[in-house]
Amino acid sequence: MKQQGILKVQSPATGEFFAEMFETTIEETSFIYEKSRKAFPTWSTMTIDERLVYFHNLRRIMVEQMDDLAKKISLDTGKVKLEALVADIMPVLDFLKSLDKTAKKTLVRQKVSTPLLLMGKKSYIEYMPRGTVLVISPWNYPFQLAMIPILSALVGGNCVISKPSEVTPFVGKVMEDLFKLAEFPEGVVSFAHGGKELGATLTEHGPDYIFFTGSVRTGKIIGQVAAKKLIPTTLELGGKDPMIVLSDAHLKRAAKAAVWGAFTNSGQVCMSVERVYVDRSVYNEFLRLVKVEVSQMKQGQSNSDDVGSMTFPAQIDIVRNQIEDALSQGATLETGIEPRHWKEGEMHVPMMVLSNVYKGMKVLNEETFGPIMPIVPFDTVEEVISLANDSEYGLNASVWSKNIQLAQTVASQIVSGAVVINDVIVTAANHHLPFGGAKQSGVGRYHGEAGLKIFCHEKAVMVDSGWKSSEIQWYPYHGKYELFLSLFKSYFKDRVNWFTFLQSFQKLIKLSKNK
Ligand code: ADP
Repeated sequence: MKQQGILKVQSPATGEFFAEMFETTIEETSFIYEKSRKAFPTWSTMTIDERLVYFHNLRRIMVEQMDDLAKKISLDTGKVKLEALVADIMPVLDFLKSLDKTAKKTLVRQKVSTPLLLMGKKSYIEYMPRGTVLVISPWNYPFQLAMIPILSALVGGNCVISKPSEVTPFVGKVMEDLFKLAEFPEGVVSFAHGGKELGATLTEHGPDYIFFTGSVRTGKIIGQVAAKKLIPTTLELGGKDPMIVLSDAHLKRAAKAAVWGAFTNSGQVCMSVERVYVDRSVYNEFLRLVKVEVSQMKQGQSNSDDVGSMTFPAQIDIVRNQIEDALSQGATLETGIEPRHWKEGEMHVPMMVLSNVYKGMKVLNEETFGPIMPIVPFDTVEEVISLANDSEYGLNASVWSKNIQLAQTVASQIVSGAVVINDVIVTAANHHLPFGGAKQSGVGRYHGEAGLKIFCHEKAVMVDSGWKSSEIQWYPYHGKYELFLSLFKSYFKDRVNWFTFLQSFQKLIKLSKNK
């Protein structure tokens, strides 16, 4: 609810208004950029160890306030506290801890070898912060999907402007307060609280890098704006992740994973299990196990509940539309309730397992971002690989088999940014693995080394002692062509002819010295 720049924050699960905060005005965006640009010279010239002091403060505060943070994230998103703790707070703490080991190793000057033909020189790569990084983040994991790119950019010496999602504004305020408590210098991290228009204005201001996580639609808009100004971007977009259950899989484990992978965070996960393909020989048993698992789950907001509420009311319409489309084309609802019987205004959407689903249905083609699990039988491994790849998305996937070699062979043929074998989603929790999508799921990677390097100019430096008066390839060229021909032929043939190589090289040096 809005009132003259004051935002009243409402819990999606209970409807309770639990906080008030200021929205950032469009006019303030210039000031925010000014502050950021002003902070950059000092922050960017600190050593990584000096910057890590602030990161340690942040980690200490997060550990102290862990329960309170989980409560606040849960209130703002509707997810249960356990999910806020495990999937929002823990990844950030784990990332902060990992930076102690990885930041310096990744971002210090890296020596590289120099080809023989460039004899006498030394080469290295230097990582230079870009400037002001704009991080635009979504509402489903509003804490970790903002904090990890923010921290990745900061540790390399960038300043950051964060524009959290307007759907979960309070988490934006929580993050801002954390950085203040950790005493990050003024302007190093700034928060702009508001919606699309604010995001668009911040993008138009011309940051030095844009890190965006959100929908394909908005990703394309941001990509276009950035392209006009040649601003480098990372775009982390949607998914329609397949789960492939082969006949020899541990079926009980696979069924439990399918239920968790499809319904955690009420299915509002870019890497959630959105399509389940099961070998026909075990299909009925798998479906039975899934239904048993779902029947034991509880929806609500308490610590003993499993699935919380949806976060974004508009998302419920998408879920309803997809279910109605599937049911009207003959799908069977194996668990859950038909949309026409849903309670008006209820944000706890039932967990819906669907069978008899076919290619033409939206539920197998469009991203759902809600608690729907369509299950489809398949007959051959070749068929399931083709079904899994038959999507405009390619974010994550999972393959289930006790035959790890076979699972790996299948995994290698899936066109996606990540694949998990005998588990779901977890690649996202390993900071040493790159995170990102193929096809419409996005452009670029973060996490791992790439996640720190993207925010820096990767600068190539080569050093010559500077004592020689000339180089062999410099002017004048007279008399050098034949010598170069002989030099390269002797060097690049299967076995180097060192005698001819050295002879040609010496003659080239002599020619260069004489002139
Ligand atoms: P979601 O469905 O997750 O809300 P969006 O892509 O609409 O996906 O939003 C993700 C983030 O992008 C939010 O922080 C939102 O405010 C921001 N956003 C939306 N439209 C624009 C835009 N045109 N320019 C910049 N940011 C935008």
